[in-house]
Amino acid sequence: MIRCKLCGRTFESFSDLFFHIKRECKNFPHTRRCPVCGTRFKTIRLLKLHLVNSALTDPQHRNYIAVMA
Ligand SMILES: [Zn+2]
Ligand SMILES: [Zn+2]
Repeated sequence: MIRCKLCGRTFESFSDLFFHIKRECKNFPHTRRCPVCGTRFKTIRLLKLHLVNSALTDPQHRNYIAVMA
């Protein structure tokens, strides 16, 4: 199981978690600046896409949104 670090909900797979982050996570920070690498984005939606895409390859981004449960 994978837990959303932001709100604590658990998911069966990373794709479920990524969908949750992009669509419905209530605790996502109200910022357009990546809390992990500091990159700025025009919209929160683009920041979310950046986080989930980076999480696939980069452990630091993955650790920000996900923890194994
Ligand atoms: Zn969440
Ligand atoms: Zn980043």
